[in-house]
Amino acid sequence: MVTFDPEGLTWAQRDGDACVVCHKRWPRPRKRVGRLPDDAPVLACADCAEALLPSPAATVVAFPSR
Ligand SMILES: [Zn+2]
Repeated sequence: MVTFDPEGLTWAQRDGDACVVCHKRWPRPRKRVGRLPDDAPVLACADCAEALLPSPAATVVAFPSR
């Protein structure tokens, strides 16, 4: 689990209201990509989380449908 430095984040990002990567607040970020030193979750939207973390779901999506 990555620990983010809250100094570099906006209040919305620290609150889990905005994506930690692209600052997007809607759709609400849902993927937990790390934590703050006080153990609060750091969230990112699905697209950014996929870029940050190798997502197990992406492996499933990669299979072509038959
Ligand atoms: Zn994002």
